[in-house]
Amino acid sequence: MPELVPGSTLGQYRILEQIGKGGMATVYKAYQAALDRYVAIKVLPAILVHEAGFLARFTQEARAIARLRHPNILTVHDYGEQEGTAYIVMEYVEGGTLKQRLGRPLDLDTALRVVRQVGAALEYAHSQGVLHRDVKPSNVLVGKGDWLLLSDFGLAKMAEGSLALTKTGVGVGTPEYMAPEQAEGLSYDHRVDVYALGVVLYEMVTGRVPYEAETPIAVIMKKLTAPLPLPRALNPALPEGVERVILKALSRDPADRYARVEGMVKALEAAVAEATPVEVARPAPAPAPPPVAAPPPVVAPPAPMKMVPALPAVERPAVRRRYLWPAALLAGLAVVLLCLCGGILAIKPKLPNLLALFQAPATRPVASQGKIAFASNRDGNDEIYVMNADGTGVTRLTVNLALDSYPAWSPDGKRIAFVSYRDGNDEIYIMNADGTDQTRLTANPAGDYDPAWSPDGKRIAFVSYRDGNYEIYVMNADGTGVTRLTVNPAVDDDPAWSPDGRRIAFASNRDGKLADIYVMNADGTGVTRLTVNLALDSYPAWSPDGRRIAFDSNRDGNYEIYVMNADGTGQTRLTVNPAWDSDPAWSPQ
Ligand code: AMP
Repeated sequence: MPELVPGSTLGQYRILEQIGKGGMATVYKAYQAALDRYVAIKVLPAILVHEAGFLARFTQEARAIARLRHPNILTVHDYGEQEGTAYIVMEYVEGGTLKQRLGRPLDLDTALRVVRQVGAALEYAHSQGVLHRDVKPSNVLVGKGDWLLLSDFGLAKMAEGSLALTKTGVGVGTPEYMAPEQAEGLSYDHRVDVYALGVVLYEMVTGRVPYEAETPIAVIMKKLTAPLPLPRALNPALPEGVERVILKALSRDPADRYARVEGMVKALEAAVAEATPVEVARPAPAPAPPPVAAPPPVVAPPAPMKMVPALPAVERPAVRRRYLWPAALLAGLAVVLLCLCGGILAIKPKLPNLLALFQAPATRPVASQGKIAFASNRDGNDEIYVMNADGTGVTRLTVNLALDSYPAWSPDGKRIAFVSYRDGNDEIYIMNADGTDQTRLTANPAGDYDPAWSPDGKRIAFVSYRDGNYEIYVMNADGTGVTRLTVNPAVDDDPAWSPDGRRIAFASNRDGKLADIYVMNADGTGVTRLTVNLALDSYPAWSPDGRRIAFDSNRDGNYEIYVMNADGTGQTRLTVNPAWDSDPAWSPQ
């Protein structure tokens, strides 16, 4: 991949220095003058970008990553492409990575804080149907106040099946942390992240990973055949209960591991609480790294992008994954397949504007009185535009350097509410339909998203993270009288008013699984669950008579549009095809 020279520019970012380089990507520190901030830019290998199939994987993953919003997940600011260089722009974090703090046993309290914070990020991502696939200490960044941020969600998935990476011997994922089924190329699920977190815990309390060898394949072979070096053999001071947690997380058979990351975190908390302080292994006094501090108050990292339906947690057939590591086992087959597929590499798909793909959720169009408002980055930045319903008369309404998105028309068509990042945080704004009089309605350090007008135009429902969790709020259309409607530890999202203004449908994962559709009275009372299944249901949209609700769901393994009666009965699938159908919007007539 071409090296970026300090002082050169990539999009609106000026490259300052290279801060890391791995098989998957090169990381640069850069400066964004528009927002006067440093960012980290991860540049993907050009060989990947030109590879057949990469863009499809990339598009899917980008959509999945864009919806992750959690205090322990590194914020992705932006994405772009310049002359064949595809890059992801992330929050810049100064504190280095957990990897730099390893190499000898950490104290048990620190290990528990790491498992708690990384576990919270994973539990949230799993609830959204997203796996990490490459949990390891170098992907755990240390932010302000030693707050931990898990990075690189989805990168492993983007590169999976890459012939180019396999050929160059770089491979995908990190064998030391990889679950056996992932290394063997079998199907896997979220329990590979439980395994990897188990390896991180092992390393934190013993000072080394369980299986070490000269080459990636030797590590895998050892992992598949050799007995696990017991943690207490390496650190006799380790409490037995903590060793038990590690042994369960590192079970060969995923069925023997913790079913969810949350279970592992709770078991470790109990084991640490049981242990007497004298039993705890302490790190050498110098050069001791600063311990990982207690979590600061939970404030949402800014996330300009909207939640979109996640990918199913269960994976596609394993055949392509077999290219990844067990070359020793599958060498003959791999050679044949590499030859066959070599031809595919010659096909270089034309790189579309990837920024647009990444921000696809923000382009959900909203029609009113023959006009359609939408978000577009055609001028290099997401702004609100409006056009006639036949596509003519496109007019830009907002002009600024931050992202503007999610336009929502007032019922009389005179005003447009939207989300803007212009003050360094996502807030709800309002403007006249011609773009004049842009006024901020909300002001707080958390993100406010997804404005939805009540049918009488007097109120705006929205989603906010201001209390440390995504809940549905409502306010008057002038920003006064903000009231929280939902209170629970889950994500409540996608508010949609019934045409009579009495009820609000929304998506929530309050049952601890993936989101389902709920409905409540407009004052937050009488919450009723309408859909019940293990898949992700989201984006409810009312029929004009208020009798039916359309929504999207991946309950049949793929996102399709469904419709049901407003009481949840009669759920019917409307679309059937192998692609994603999502974000239904019901026409007023
Ligand atoms: P990676 O390729 O993800 O292993 O990253 C290589 C190195 O770049 C890491 O070990 C970090 O030191 C650094 N790095 C990655 N992401 C960031 C970030 N968002 N902020 C600051 N440094 C980073």
